[in-house]
Amino acid sequence: MRAFVPGYHMETPPTLAAALQRMASEPSGWKPFAGGTDLMVLLEAGKLPHRKFLSIWKIPDLRGIAASSTHVALGALTTYSEVRRDELLGREFPLLARAAAETGSIATQNRGTLGGNIANASPAADTPPALLVYDAELELVSANGTRVVPFHGFWKGYKQLSLHEDELIRTIRLPRGTHGWTHFYRKVGTRRAQAISKVCFAGTARMEGGKIADLRISLGSVAPVVLRATETERALRGARPTPMVIRAAQEALAREIVPINDIRSTAHYRLRVAQNLLAEFCETISA
Ligand SMILES: Cc1cc2nc3c(=O)[nH]c(=O)nc-3n(C[C@H](O)[C@H](O)[C@H](O)COP(=O)(O)OP(=O)(O)OC[C@H]3O[C@@H](n4cnc5c(N)ncnc54)[C@H](O)[C@@H]3O)c2cc1C
Repeated sequence: MRAFVPGYHMETPPTLAAALQRMASEPSGWKPFAGGTDLMVLLEAGKLPHRKFLSIWKIPDLRGIAASSTHVALGALTTYSEVRRDELLGREFPLLARAAAETGSIATQNRGTLGGNIANASPAADTPPALLVYDAELELVSANGTRVVPFHGFWKGYKQLSLHEDELIRTIRLPRGTHGWTHFYRKVGTRRAQAISKVCFAGTARMEGGKIADLRISLGSVAPVVLRATETERALRGARPTPMVIRAAQEALAREIVPINDIRSTAHYRLRVAQNLLAEFCETISA
């Protein structure tokens, strides 16, 4: 059933300071509204319980992609289309560019934001696996100040965020230094476009003398949150990716993911696909 639109209230603060003041004055009262691609779906379905929103879309402090010698900082309002267009991101963080290209349709990519994708906290979201393997950090801001937290651990459980009610995600920071790493991303869905992931796999690795000197692996749609597969990483770090080592890593992966049956897929299929993608990742990095 569609929602009754006049029952909702939206304000458009002109600056970040004005938005933060509004949120501080009534911490659980106001919710940010960015591109609206998640919120409008809920509104249309009559499932948007919150009533008061602050449109942050036009706040300049939440926009832009800036590079320093150590980091690339993306404003929370960075859209998928902006990620796709950015040459530096394509070169140094190709998994993020790939995730953006495989998200929804062009219309969704023009409007959906990275901050919204993170705050919506769907276990099937497609940019978080890339952000996790690139060790992203989040800059969170409120009227009381700013804090920086690792993205890894920001989601505490299904739809549970380490974000206070008066805080906004301002920036997503990616540490540079990915040169020489191999990057691997696969989104498995019903179709090649406009499909929610059944399994999403992102991995990066650096090889030295045939051994995996370092690596990071993250998966979506196989647990209540997008997760870093740290036990699987441990099974591979420092090893040659032989068939025996890969099998042991696949067993480690089976222990740390908790796929479920739902309308998109089955737990059994998700486990098999995740393990197959892990093997493909190992073959790719050793090629
Ligand atoms: C047709 C369609 C296809 C889609 N396909 C995909 C897909 O393939 N893969 C995928 O991952 N997603 C997909 N999505 C989901 C969606 O596009 C993303 O989650 C999007 O990135 C959300 O960003 P937004 O700016 O639209 O968020 P909004 O809808 O504005 O907000 C989402 C949530 O985040 C909060 N929020 C937004 N910005 C901030 C901020 N800066 N600080 C704190 N909280 C904030 C809001 O309060 C709200 O709770 C699809 C959506 C649609 C409608």
